[in-house]
Amino acid sequence: MVKKESGWNLDNSYAKLPNSFYTNTNPTPVRSPKLIILNYPLATSLGFNIEELQSDDGVAMLAGNKIPEGAAPIAQAYAGHQFGNFTMLGDGRAVLLGEQITPEGKMFDIQLKGSGRTRYSRGGDGRAALGPMLREYIISEAMHALRIPTTQSLAVVTTGEAVIRETELPGAILTRVAASHLRVGTFEYVAQWGTVEDLRILADYAIERHYPSIEADESRYLALLDAVIKRQAELIAKWMLVGFIHGVMNTDNMTISGETIDYGPCAFMDTYDPATVFSSIDIQGRYSYGNQPYIGAWNLSRFAETLLPLLDENQEMAIEKAQEKISNFSTLYHSHWLSGMRSKLGIFNEDKEDESLINDLLDIMKKQHADYTNTFRALTFDSQDGCVSQEFTQWKEKWQARLERQPETSDLAKKLMKNNNPSVIPRNHRVEEALEAAVERSDFSVMERLLAILSNPYEHSAEQAEYSVVPASTTPYRTYCGT
Ligand code: AMP
Ligand code: MG
Repeated sequence: MVKKESGWNLDNSYAKLPNSFYTNTNPTPVRSPKLIILNYPLATSLGFNIEELQSDDGVAMLAGNKIPEGAAPIAQAYAGHQFGNFTMLGDGRAVLLGEQITPEGKMFDIQLKGSGRTRYSRGGDGRAALGPMLREYIISEAMHALRIPTTQSLAVVTTGEAVIRETELPGAILTRVAASHLRVGTFEYVAQWGTVEDLRILADYAIERHYPSIEADESRYLALLDAVIKRQAELIAKWMLVGFIHGVMNTDNMTISGETIDYGPCAFMDTYDPATVFSSIDIQGRYSYGNQPYIGAWNLSRFAETLLPLLDENQEMAIEKAQEKISNFSTLYHSHWLSGMRSKLGIFNEDKEDESLINDLLDIMKKQHADYTNTFRALTFDSQDGCVSQEFTQWKEKWQARLERQPETSDLAKKLMKNNNPSVIPRNHRVEEALEAAVERSDFSVMERLLAILSNPYEHSAEQAEYSVVPASTTPYRTYCGT
């Protein structure tokens, strides 16, 4: 039994849903757990006692060797469209311990990822390697610091066991914290194999957890669709504004809460090009940077389909209602994107020519192979690095003239820009450098420094400058999923 002072305060609301939604599964114990990194601010906000969490007992729980008091570990069932094809999936290497109730009364899923085989593992070993788990830790923390809704990482522990991939790698477990793990794929699973009553239970659960304000709405399921569309439109616009490429926007990797989830092959774009793809398996560019809003709408259409039986007794009416909501996505997305772009350029008010001004800039960036982040940073600080050309100089004149057409002072415009153009993003070479030091040499200092730098991307400190440098690369960056 664990002492209450450790801070674990788990509910098991998902485990109270119909049995078919999950399978009771304990994590498989590991040989020798060792804490590699603990997210102090997150641990504190969740109500954990840091000292307890770092003790042998605490680490044993983060490794799945001990079950915290109040936990009812389950593997969640879900399906999904992977690269367009429908499949049964589920937590193949993760268990949900329960939902932590924070001192503020908020509820967060606590999930161990890499915790062993489950009923949904198919051919997989249920395990994860240290590199990819630290990668998820770094990028999810960077996203959080960029003010982008995301699951977070509480801790990474090594298991003392090897996992076999192309080579033998150190095994690890990541503790993932999420508003919930409800995915579009969770709805697809229940819509495919459950009853309409099951579907209603799932939808009600999602509403209660994420959209309590629509609970009393007489068309609450249509309101749920609407609410998820709104959150996803806002989320994907935020990705686009910082150059984030998710890399594997399968429907099982799209949350109902509107948080970014599943940091597999994701990466940040450096040179601006909408066709940018990093994932080794995305041959067709389905999940390229520029395609993300379209895929968002495609995934939400799959979500809408699952809800049809709840939208109207008459199927045609249900389809009509769903279509109307889906058709709002592009307008919603576009308005978030446009207002975000205005902020990146220091623009407060609206002018109908703003969009062409923005698109002209993007065209120039594309033609000149300019770095996305650094071009906006250079504009923010009037510096000459990044894009240089006559065309760009002319564009800047137009932009300056636009700024003069607003009442706000140029100081205010600069302030707005500083708050919307990060100096630092998790540059691919920096992430690789941190992972290599950690995995090859057990040197975690490189990662810790990187995390510190990324923790305040709008600080624009002198220390951050070297992390903005883009090296001349010879080989295209490649990322891998399912590792
Ligand atoms: P992902 O690519 O992380 O979205 O995972 C897709 C599916 O594969 C999910 O059902 C995962 O649980 C499962 N999966 C990924 N890696 C493993 C593994 N090593 N063992 C078992 N299942 C896995
Ligand atoms: Mg996934």
